[in-house]
Amino acid sequence: MRALAHHRPDLALRRFRAAVASCPAESPEALSRYLYWLAQSLLKLDQPELALKSLASAQKLRPRGPARAVYLQRINDYGMCRRASVELDDFYAFYSLQACAYLGSKPDRRFDSNTEKDAVTRLIADAWRVLVGTGKLKKLPVAKKLKLFKAYTLAFPLFGLSQSRRCKTIAVDFRRNVALKGDERCFCGSGLPYIRCCGRTVSLRESFFE
Ligand SMILES: [Zn+2]
Repeated sequence: MRALAHHRPDLALRRFRAAVASCPAESPEALSRYLYWLAQSLLKLDQPELALKSLASAQKLRPRGPARAVYLQRINDYGMCRRASVELDDFYAFYSLQACAYLGSKPDRRFDSNTEKDAVTRLIADAWRVLVGTGKLKKLPVAKKLKLFKAYTLAFPLFGLSQSRRCKTIAVDFRRNVALKGDERCFCGSGLPYIRCCGRTVSLRESFFE
């Protein structure tokens, strides 16, 4: 906390990371507090996506704590960092899902060069323009858009990859033994919709560059 007060978020980040790592599992309140301050340090370091990941965990551990309010302020309906417009929110969700699918199909799960990353980004951006051009996205609720984005299989022909091994995940409430729809309350008991809680869309940065 002193490091944060003295404008040393880098030092605070290291300390809070160590605190999270050594926090016993039977102290969810303390763990939530460390994760919250870890997120505050990341926000100061201009790492909103990683901060959101910490806040997502912190608010689950302690739904009435301060992390919940900050988390809800910063997420959009995809459970991602809120951008300047709905269209940007949509684009980042589409981009993350497609890029994660691409990287997930590679053995080392990373871009080998900036050229490769640029090419993949361009392909996704082209596909996005086509998708927006169809006018299909207008007035669709987020859960429907998400379904559309996930079903959209982009062919990445440049890099000689085999068909991407995308697997479909189904959200299940194990306590009630039923499949969850995106807009239903999350099974974890947070009271939030599933797609803004445990089923939130994860940014590329969170998945592959932690
Ligand atoms: Zn949840």
